Amino acid sequence: MGAERAARMKIHEFQAKRILAAYAIPVPKGEVADTPAGARGVAERLGVPVVVKAQIHAGGRGKGGGIRPARSPAEAEQVAAQILGMLLRTPQTGPEGRRVKRVLVEEATTIRRELYLGIVLDRRAGRPVVMASAAGGMEIEEIAAKSPEKILRAPVDPAGGLPPYVGRKLAYGLGVPAELTRPTADLILGLACAYQEKDCSLAEVNPLVITEDERVLALDAKMTFDDNALFRHPEVRELRDLDEEAPLEVEASRFGLNYVKLDGSVGCMVNGAGLAMATMDIVQQAGGAPANFLDVGGGASAEQIENAFRILMADAAVRAVFINIFGGILRCDRLAAGVIQATRALKVRVPIVIRMEGTNVAEGKRMLEESGLRFLTAASMAEGARMAVAASRGRP
Ligand code: GDP
Ligand code: MN
Repeated sequence: MGAERAARMKIHEFQAKRILAAYAIPVPKGEVADTPAGARGVAERLGVPVVVKAQIHAGGRGKGGGIRPARSPAEAEQVAAQILGMLLRTPQTGPEGRRVKRVLVEEATTIRRELYLGIVLDRRAGRPVVMASAAGGMEIEEIAAKSPEKILRAPVDPAGGLPPYVGRKLAYGLGVPAELTRPTADLILGLACAYQEKDCSLAEVNPLVITEDERVLALDAKMTFDDNALFRHPEVRELRDLDEEAPLEVEASRFGLNYVKLDGSVGCMVNGAGLAMATMDIVQQAGGAPANFLDVGGGASAEQIENAFRILMADAAVRAVFINIFGGILRCDRLAAGVIQATRALKVRVPIVIRMEGTNVAEGKRMLEESGLRFLTAASMAEGARMAVAASRGRP
């Protein structure tokens, strides 16, 4: 769900491959370029043939036309000219697509077999799990649906890591040629090590390939990171590409606010992740759908409330706002001051439903009443949700 998505920083393939290389994982030689001439230069340095790969934070690029071979430096320049600046649509970007700003130019690989290798957090088991499959080239969801028996799994002990024998067992299970068992096992152990040391939430090599000349190689790489652990990885945090993130989410994070875009019509302002989830549920129970939620956190100032409001209202899908706040550290009078200030400054035209409870609630309510602005106040969460949903349909 949204909150989870927001808690995972993504990086580009070329960045993930640099990290993998630092863990002794074999990757194709390559360099990034942001101009066609630059791509030509890389092809000249590497030697041809090469593959030119669009760098966006989404997979499925092959299908979308974002991965193209080139047999000469001149062709690399041509192909890069087509890919750079294109609006790349893949099954993962949605219909709006992503503008390509950079390409990775790599030495081309002759593939014999495509395998799948990935590590994710298994929430039920409470630990990371390695997944490997001989049915590569497909997304893991597709393998799971079509041939679940072809997925090998091995849990990773959060304290001890992945033991070498498990790496070998997985390599055997993948059926790689005998002389590649050792390098494949090492590659799997390297990925497990990178996953843990970098506090990843996902590390995926799809496809992992066996080449015609009998090497094992990470042909693609995807890594996402647990946002809550980024403080101890400044080198990872530097890799963040704000252009790839939803603009309002970026704006919110600048003010220390957590904003998540959803697809309904009720804008929700809450404090605390738990209350955010409860608010989503109760809006849906009332027959509506949240357009977004914005978590202002514990100790927001009136100014932060105003920023929050601005971000919330910038979403054109919002037909009504539901403010659901429990005033603890964030006092209700301060909230009221921020909401009044923001409603005036932004000339908000959609109905605003407020349910607040806690510290200085009487003072807060008095301020809202005396503001001369038209707020709808609710006595309970359920009532507030019903009012907001009705208002979002134009029946306040
Ligand atoms: P994705 O579509 O975004 O997941 O991008 P990938 O990097 O996984 O590439 C998609 C597909 O393109 C791979 O599964 C390969 O079949 C193909 N591909 C990528 N690089 C090469 C290459 O160097 N040589 C060949 N023959 N195929 C490649
Ligand atoms: Mn891939």
